[in-house]
Amino acid sequence: MNAQQPDWPDPDLLRAVTGRLGAAPPLVFAEECDRLRERLAGVARGEALLLQGGDCAETFAGVTADAVRGKLRTLLQMAVVLSHASGLPVVKVGRMAGQFAKPRSSPVERRGALTLPSYRGDAVNGQEFTEAARRPDPRRLERMYEASVATLNLLRAHVGGGFADLRQVAEWNEEFVAGSPSAGRYARRAREVSRALAFVRASGADQRTLRTAEFFVSHEGLLLDYERALTRTDERTGRLYATSGHLLWVGERTRQPDGAHIDFLSGVHNPVAVKLGPGTEPDTVLRYLDRLDPARTPGRLTFVVRAGAERVRDVLPVLVEKALAEGARVGWVCDPMHGNTVTAPSGHKTRAFEAILDEVRGFVEVHRALGSHPGGVHVELTGEDVTECTGGGSPVRAEDLPLRYTTACDPRLNHGQSLDLAFRLAELYAR
Ligand code: PEP
Ligand code: MN
Repeated sequence: MNAQQPDWPDPDLLRAVTGRLGAAPPLVFAEECDRLRERLAGVARGEALLLQGGDCAETFAGVTADAVRGKLRTLLQMAVVLSHASGLPVVKVGRMAGQFAKPRSSPVERRGALTLPSYRGDAVNGQEFTEAARRPDPRRLERMYEASVATLNLLRAHVGGGFADLRQVAEWNEEFVAGSPSAGRYARRAREVSRALAFVRASGADQRTLRTAEFFVSHEGLLLDYERALTRTDERTGRLYATSGHLLWVGERTRQPDGAHIDFLSGVHNPVAVKLGPGTEPDTVLRYLDRLDPARTPGRLTFVVRAGAERVRDVLPVLVEKALAEGARVGWVCDPMHGNTVTAPSGHKTRAFEAILDEVRGFVEVHRALGSHPGGVHVELTGEDVTECTGGGSPVRAEDLPLRYTTACDPRLNHGQSLDLAFRLAELYAR
């Protein structure tokens, strides 16, 4: 079974492209992937939280300095709030520098009399509803590689170059709070973060650690032609690594335990994740453990649960119990986006902030009841002021959705809604 692969029209061209990608430099290095594994082991052991986020679908046109910086800044601002509240390190992972391919529920899209192949992400075809744009083009795999290079370059320069300085991040949070209708609710926490940082500075602790951050990148490992072409042997250990991103996950539509995607992940040494929807058979959790984490190594496998606010309290306990009974030390993370998508009266796909928050609340409740660790969140967000999800501290109303609805796929939290979520999660995770 090899689900969700494009019908590439030109096998010779595909071979030429994957041949060139096979000879191209790796985007990430095995040592970095190992470091993320160690950090995620902390998540699995209950000693850290994972914050994973970015666009549903990155686009080539969206690889601009402003857009990349905006997403990074949003994630850094969220992370400092969560870390301060929980007293735990927050492992920061972008859905960035590789999230260019999408699984689709239907292979075709119908508009009026015209039926065309569905848009599968910029890595495959174009969004425009024309026959030419929708034809899969293997040369796009090279553009995906180049767009990932450019994104990673921006991320590495920012993270190493002072942009992630915690004092600056804390100041941004104070500015956000000052301008927020929820200022009363958030102000104290924002101020406490700044005061804690002032204390660290005054105490003479090593200032360098405040000025830089660790930031990793991840995407859905969907296009196996691309992923295989970028798989490399680590010369230190002889092990295979996917070098297209630090962490790869398999989505709800391609997680068949005997399928090609799980098989691909089983062969690489990166940290990996599997999305679990509300229909997950409890026993498949054991199959994933055996396929992906037979040695039961904390940090190797993360389960990203996306059950929906209404289902998570029913669906999650048995999955966690199965894994615990197996002695598994996996990370458990909540994706509160994909189980809460609804269609607004205007026809826009949207998600309500309250449903998103409620799913995380349910996720945390279940873990607390079972004595397991609610290891963090996986969210779709942008640094821009889009109107794609409803609600939040400066609420987006259903009638606002057409104003700035620019996503290439699913609706994202905007910058303010993302910070609202972080401050609300801080209340849930507060020690
Ligand atoms: C996604 O993360 O954009 C996605 C398609 O999620 P899922 O596989 O959980 O449906
Ligand atoms: Mn999505």
